[in-house]
Amino acid sequence: MNRLQQITVLGATGSVGLSTLDVIARHPNLYQVFALTGFTRLSELLALCIRYLPRFAVVPEVELARGMQQHLQAAGLATQVLVGEEGLCQVSVDTEVDTVVAVIVGAAGLRPTLAAVNAGKKILLANKEALVMSGALFMQAVRKSGAVLLPLDSEHNAIFQCMPNNFASGLSQVGVRRILLTASGGPFWPNPSVDLEHVSPDQACAHPNWSMGRKISVDSASMMNKGLELIEACWLFDAKSDQIEVVIHPQSVIHSLVDYVDGSMLAQLGNPDMRTPIANALAWPERIDSGVAPLDLLAIARLDFEMPDEQRFPCLCLARQAAEIGNSAPVILNAANEVAVTAFLDGRIRFPQIASIIEDVLNLEPVVVVDDLGAVFEADARARTLAAQWLNRNVR
Ligand code: NDP
Ligand code: MG
Repeated sequence: MNRLQQITVLGATGSVGLSTLDVIARHPNLYQVFALTGFTRLSELLALCIRYLPRFAVVPEVELARGMQQHLQAAGLATQVLVGEEGLCQVSVDTEVDTVVAVIVGAAGLRPTLAAVNAGKKILLANKEALVMSGALFMQAVRKSGAVLLPLDSEHNAIFQCMPNNFASGLSQVGVRRILLTASGGPFWPNPSVDLEHVSPDQACAHPNWSMGRKISVDSASMMNKGLELIEACWLFDAKSDQIEVVIHPQSVIHSLVDYVDGSMLAQLGNPDMRTPIANALAWPERIDSGVAPLDLLAIARLDFEMPDEQRFPCLCLARQAAEIGNSAPVILNAANEVAVTAFLDGRIRFPQIASIIEDVLNLEPVVVVDDLGAVFEADARARTLAAQWLNRNVR
């Protein structure tokens, strides 16, 4: 009998982390949890440890680790608690680990995910910010180590399913004309009369089709999520940004499409539930049950498509520009967006100011070559400082 696949979940306490554990729990004959990590939701992490009995748990600070270790011992568990980024990297490269599920949100996920890549692991990637920040380095490392990189983002997983096996030889080589990235449009799309100056964080996070963490929910509302996904798709599928079109599809049933030169267009459809791409990537190239209900086409009845409105949602346009400029431009875009989204969620700025901050920081910060991780994090830090200065100037 094959041994159980050992899985590390980086960001287990989040939305995609919990969906991943739900799929894993359906297949105890295939998968075993090796490590789980959390950041602020540590009582949830403790409950997950009690349920999944991982070898390791990772928390951000030494004091928190002591408390967690005591709770685990009191519950009779042998789980060892590790600390901080070093702990995250350790559970990503351990020789016993087969698969690393990279679902930390934001730049914080980059180092451990890249460590897993360098160690040649199978990586299930939802942490799009990691790829946006360091796409060239990341993909170089994948090729060098032989790591298997599988996309969890529903659009990219859909594209992956619609691509031929040999797509790495180049899109034109395999007859692909363009990639169509679908976007729900977020909570404000259906109603053009919504005054974006006065929307609240809770309104921005009330996504019509998906239940997600707050940062990506705001990104979806601003369309920056689609912008980050465009950059993510460029790296994953070795595409130029002008080979990728964004189309609004409010039902979120078609998760993306690939258009071939012979006139065929392949699409992947499914209910909007992250457990489908997770199950697809976990079991690839096989298929396993994800727990997701089958799609009821008659109940859906119709599928709509519209052009994005880049005037009302300028973030998509900013991301496309950053993709075209390349080098550190996507790092700057991502860092400014992370600072701006946090400020919006904290009630410090209005929704349209997210795009203003990003645009101003992109204009102010010179674009440089980023040929190592140090250069990536330096560009990231400079952009965050500029965004913080913007806030100090414009927000009381
Ligand atoms: P959540 O906010 O729900 O979860 C984020 C996870 O990252 C949590 O486990 C959180 O820990 C952890 N975390 C946050 N900050 C840090 C840090 N500084 N160091 C270490 N760990 C940290 O986000 P989602 O699950 O929604 O999204 C995760 C990633 O997946 C994002 O990059 C997102 O863009 C991408 N994604 C998400 C989709 C979705 O449906 N949700 C769909 C496609 C992509 P804690 O909760 O304990 O604070
Ligand atoms: Mg997505």
